[in-house]
Amino acid sequence: MFKKFLFFFLSAFSASALAQDTIANLQIEKKGGVAYANGIDLGKKLKMQMFWHSEADILQIGASSWVLDNEWASIKDTSFLLQTPVQSHINGKQSFWLPFPSSLPVFERMLNKNLEYDSVSAKIVAVQTKDIWSVNLDAKNNGEVIELKLLKPFTAEGFYVHPNYILRINGAAIDSAMFSDLAKKSVFISRVFSIQDKQSAQLTLVLRDNCEGPELVKKDGGKVLQIVLRKKQAASGQQKTAAPEAKTQAQDANSTGKKIRTIVIDPGHGGKDPGAIGHKSLQEKEVVLAVGLKLKSKLEANGFSVKMTRSTDKFITLEERPKMASDWGGDLFISLHCNAIEGKERQQKTEGFKFYILRAGGSEEDKAIARRENKAVALESGKKNKTDISPAEWIILDNQLALYAERSALLAGHLVEAFDGGSVKKLGTGAGQAGFFVLVGAYMPAVLAELGFITNPTDGAYMATEKGQNELADRLAKAITAFAK
Ligand SMILES: [Zn+2]
Repeated sequence: MFKKFLFFFLSAFSASALAQDTIANLQIEKKGGVAYANGIDLGKKLKMQMFWHSEADILQIGASSWVLDNEWASIKDTSFLLQTPVQSHINGKQSFWLPFPSSLPVFERMLNKNLEYDSVSAKIVAVQTKDIWSVNLDAKNNGEVIELKLLKPFTAEGFYVHPNYILRINGAAIDSAMFSDLAKKSVFISRVFSIQDKQSAQLTLVLRDNCEGPELVKKDGGKVLQIVLRKKQAASGQQKTAAPEAKTQAQDANSTGKKIRTIVIDPGHGGKDPGAIGHKSLQEKEVVLAVGLKLKSKLEANGFSVKMTRSTDKFITLEERPKMASDWGGDLFISLHCNAIEGKERQQKTEGFKFYILRAGGSEEDKAIARRENKAVALESGKKNKTDISPAEWIILDNQLALYAERSALLAGHLVEAFDGGSVKKLGTGAGQAGFFVLVGAYMPAVLAELGFITNPTDGAYMATEKGQNELADRLAKAITAFAK
């Protein structure tokens, strides 16, 4: 009765599902301009195995997982962003309602076919076998060339933050199956991930230390992309004859792999969202913008390229902020905030800074702070008031966390060190972890800074002054510069 996995439907999984090339009479409901397909009906029609994990609200259809109230679907190592979250009720009818047509790429991946949804006849038609790309690995004496052939030209860009090389192809659909044996074939690649969203396909290669920073070569007007991986030159005795300059260069290339070039500063809140209101009506959105602008010029003086999610009093959704950072090819994301607490007495007593990373398992206090910062979601049109990341969503975030949680924690460590001994005291250990929405989707080391308590008379008065803001920016700049070394 209390089985963890409640099995509710099973039929033989057929690899030739959709053999007739058309799935007709789909159960479709429309709400708010979005069409939803009944996921259980669709899974049955596709003859796919289905499991309902009742505790986590996850429906598995074939190899894909769908979570109620979540706008990500996943197949093993690939995540798909949907138009809207998966719904339990549409127009009073209960099921697993999948937004359409944004769910189609998930089924295309499983069936390895191009699918088209005809909204007039509520049919899915298989257009052709999905075979957009060829992937070829050419092993050379001194390295490897991974060549992707595309059916048409796409714009693409590569980012390298050691050990991850990320290739983003704008507007393309990626077939992760084509890359599944790349790590096995390559001597430089240890793992491969892919992420599919509406705007782009992202391929992440996790590189071993025997490889130098990769290079992206575009050919045939963007129809051919080559990732060139070079073998790192060993400083062996035989190479003593080589020019010393060449050797120094090779060593530099080694350390530049970790180099942080573009920093994205995210002053929290803005526009219709004032953030926390503190001592003497001081608004969080004003403090963090002032500190952010000062931090920008300090980091630029230290040689970094700096982008800001907002440099004016403007409302930006929590979801847009990390997306902007990724689009800019950011190497580091810092979201600036002020902490707050209710109750006169507690406001007098509670002060201090704390730096947060995105990770499950934080304390109840950390979770409460994340909930307060996540409340900005309620100001977004069409979104419901949701302030927590569910256990199932943490599973979906696994990809991002596996890549960046460790380096984010290291960055938080540098920040605590730089803030220690300053005018604002340390809250607890100075570092914490929780489900901050604004850090979700930042594919780079990312930290949320609570600079101090805006509701505390001492912290608030300090953060309101030019001098205080300048000192806070100084300490942030110092920590980021130390981390980037
Ligand atoms: Zn905030």
